[in-house]
Amino acid sequence: MLKGKTALITGSTSGIGRGYARALAAQGANVTINGFGDAAAIEKERVGIEKEFGVRAFYSPADMTKPAEIADMVHTTEKTFGSLDVLINNAGIQFVSPIEEFPIEKWDQIIAINLSSAFHAIRAAVPGMKARKWGRIISTASAHSLVASPFKAAYVSAKHGIAGLTKTVALELATFGITVNCISPGYVWTPLVEKQIPDTMKARNMTEEQVKRDVLLAAQPTKEFVTVEEVAALAVYLCSDSAKAITGANLSIDGGWTAE
Ligand code: NAD
Repeated sequence: MLKGKTALITGSTSGIGRGYARALAAQGANVTINGFGDAAAIEKERVGIEKEFGVRAFYSPADMTKPAEIADMVHTTEKTFGSLDVLINNAGIQFVSPIEEFPIEKWDQIIAINLSSAFHAIRAAVPGMKARKWGRIISTASAHSLVASPFKAAYVSAKHGIAGLTKTVALELATFGITVNCISPGYVWTPLVEKQIPDTMKARNMTEEQVKRDVLLAAQPTKEFVTVEEVAALAVYLCSDSAKAITGANLSIDGGWTAE
């Protein structure tokens, strides 16, 4: 479906982003992967994508807190593959703390990575998409773009921001063959979720099992974590021609969480 097209996925060395990269490569897209991690493991992943799916994969180490590096990643992708057709803004981090103790630098970092990086990447990618009259811009928002949880001030604010940015850009690009949507997962079992368990245990004075059952899956009526593959399949659908009328949407994939 995406043969001859190029996808760039921020934060794709792990978790949901890695799932998007593999799913889009499976559809024939060349991919730019991005994110932090062990250099040898990233290179293994990059080469693995090329071999498994018969596409080309490029790795950009751009730091999503640095606007110039983000723009450079977009332009390098265009130069390497000839176009950037699918942009997925996915890099994200979490920090859990009561508001009065929330470290100022953590607020700034989360707003930069989880919200502003999407603005910078979209800003750089849109001219090429407009010129080619085709594009798909997808951002990983969260159930926390629709509802809040205590102790996650920066994350919830950034994700609500992604929902607003998505709607705004969708309106601007509606007549250019470019759709702009966000996907809002509930709890997906990835390193991001695993890492916040110790802080949530401390903030709420709970055991690990209590955090999983009474905090994480308590919010999710299905009582099951969403899978990376399910989220990636939704992104693949949004890239299809059948989804060309879907724009400005915030698509929940949250086991019923935000229905409550
Ligand atoms: P993850 O920790 O597995 O992956 C995060 C990725 O972002 C990694 O590749 C990491 O290297 C990258 N990253 C972090 N900081 C970066 C920076 N400064 N520059 C470049 N890359 C950076 O997390 P995940 O669970 O896969 O989360 C991916 C996205 O999905 C995030 O935006 C997150 O908020 C969102 N999300 C996750 C869940 C969940 O339950 N896991 C639910 C809803 C939304």
